[in-house]
Amino acid sequence: MTVKCFEFNMFPVNTYVLSDETNEAVIIDAGCYYDDEQEMLKQYIERNGLTVKHLLNTHLHLDHLFGNAFVARVYGVKPEASADDEFLIPKVKDYCKMFGLGLNEEVPAIGKYLADGDEVIFGNTSLKVLSAPGHSPGSLVYYCEKDSCLFCGDVLFRGSIGRTDLDKGDYKQLINSISNKLFPLPDQTKVYTGHGDATTIGNEKMNNPFFR
Ligand SMILES: [Zn+2]
Repeated sequence: MTVKCFEFNMFPVNTYVLSDETNEAVIIDAGCYYDDEQEMLKQYIERNGLTVKHLLNTHLHLDHLFGNAFVARVYGVKPEASADDEFLIPKVKDYCKMFGLGLNEEVPAIGKYLADGDEVIFGNTSLKVLSAPGHSPGSLVYYCEKDSCLFCGDVLFRGSIGRTDLDKGDYKQLINSISNKLFPLPDQTKVYTGHGDATTIGNEKMNNPFFR
């Protein structure tokens, strides 16, 4: 599996394009906000001859979904996310106002609900959906056992964890999610985070100050 990471928008968020030898692809957290970011994503997909099969969200904070309308429109896929984050969609406009940001397109509704234990299939690759609430109530992480990697949104960061002071965030729940859902994965699992640098499960178990 090929993992391409883009850093998009003013927050800046990591947008991932995963593809395998079949050239089928999924996009995780389409954060492209500016025209040139949308163009970069489009160019990458065209240049590599990819067919976008899924648009996945780790959660529905605004910085992770700026590009959902664009990707849905251009590739005919609907956002897939947890029902527990659906309440955030009508609030996106207000949050944008708060930050002085305009939104050209309506934020699309969730097209398919994902929950713990679901599988997302593209090409010869399967991603397992794990529920990891705390940063937001509907935070999901996507685990690829074949390639030993995890896409965790804002649940876990290199040397840190997601903030819990936003809408319905819950610190205890987040610590439980990381301890019970993420840390049992193999130590060598590469962790692709929603912001900043990638890490591994083993590295965070050893060094993350929230777990010492
Ligand atoms: Zn977030």
